[in-house]
Amino acid sequence: AFAADVVPQAPEDPLFGLMAAYRRDEDPNKVDLGIGAYRDDNAKPWVLPVVKKADELLRADPNLNHEYLPIAGLAEFTSASQKLIFGASSPVISEGRAISLQTISGTGAVHLGALFLSKFYNPSASGAKTVYVSNPTWANHNQIFSNVGLPIAQYPYFSKETKGLDFAGMRSTIESAPEGSIILLHACAHNPTGVDPTQDQWKELATLMKQKSHFPFFDCAYQGFASGDLNRDAWAIRYFVEQGFELLVAQSYAKNFGLYGERAGCFHFVTSPGAEAKDTVSRVGSQLAILQRSEISNPPAYGARIASLVLNDADLFAQWEENLREMSGRIISMRQALKKHLDELKTPGTWDHIVDQIGMFSFTGLSEKQVLKIREEAHVYMTKNGRISMAGLNTKNVKYFAEAVDKVVR
Ligand code: PLP
Repeated sequence: AFAADVVPQAPEDPLFGLMAAYRRDEDPNKVDLGIGAYRDDNAKPWVLPVVKKADELLRADPNLNHEYLPIAGLAEFTSASQKLIFGASSPVISEGRAISLQTISGTGAVHLGALFLSKFYNPSASGAKTVYVSNPTWANHNQIFSNVGLPIAQYPYFSKETKGLDFAGMRSTIESAPEGSIILLHACAHNPTGVDPTQDQWKELATLMKQKSHFPFFDCAYQGFASGDLNRDAWAIRYFVEQGFELLVAQSYAKNFGLYGERAGCFHFVTSPGAEAKDTVSRVGSQLAILQRSEISNPPAYGARIASLVLNDADLFAQWEENLREMSGRIISMRQALKKHLDELKTPGTWDHIVDQIGMFSFTGLSEKQVLKIREEAHVYMTKNGRISMAGLNTKNVKYFAEAVDKVVR
């Protein structure tokens, strides 16, 4: 019944395929720069000390059970998530202009937003329903939006020449997009490039998107992980909110809490200020609840309980901030170390972008051919687009990696 012309063989997920190849490699010097997950200086996964503490508190609670959460998830988690992303004193919260649902991490939040838009987004001006994503973007964006039937277009983002932002290209594509287009934006620490707009560029984008009545959808997978400062990493979202946009946010706790496999995330719908706001939030919330119910019924409890304990306790929150600074600080120091080694080796090319880029990833500028060669010869695993996860570098392997890069670019 399911013949090959009906169900063709799909390609393996490139990233998870890369992880499997790394695991099979028996070379003692192998380096994993593929998956975007934090590693400590011994290349080991790191359970945040504050998460360990919250876990102990949870387990000591005699009333803990395994009942279902409500459809929208743990209420104290979603309300704390609003405060974290919009700021505790945001009018979005005091005016009741947001509705938030706990989701299957950031992926689930992007999906819920995509599904909601596919069903209900109907810009009056142009009838356009196209989602504009950056080129490049997190590969899963393309699958998530096309799976719900939304057409996808791209805006330029990365300049191969400067290895920085192609702001002119981004701007002009967003400007010429049909009115009311959906624009997907990475809130901070853009994946895969590590390149973010400056605050002035964000302001310009907001003005432009206002003029064109575009609809912003922020994907925020690295709050606090990028700069080490939770507020700074939420700046763009808060600025757009201040400008009165109606918008969506997908929030992930995978990286900033190290809760990758626990799938803790949150989806927010924010409406503009005005007399209609509460009514809009109520109607949208009722539809989101139906979508959520049919897709996952209700979200998983454990990760949200951990995050909620930390987010709602001033002392634990301060410890979390400390843990965040440790992760982001180690990554920044690896950027500096890599740059220093490349400088010392006099590796051809300019490598300033390694220290200029931010967050989990760096777009090295290595070609696919060089990436495959480095895998073959040095057992270093990175994605074919030349992206490296900075967290995979440590004081023991950064020099080895720099030497491998040096060899392959000569
Ligand atoms: N969005 C972006 C841009 C990401 O980089 C990621 C993770 O790599 C996600 C969303 C979602 O991740 P998760 O579903 O693990 O929260």
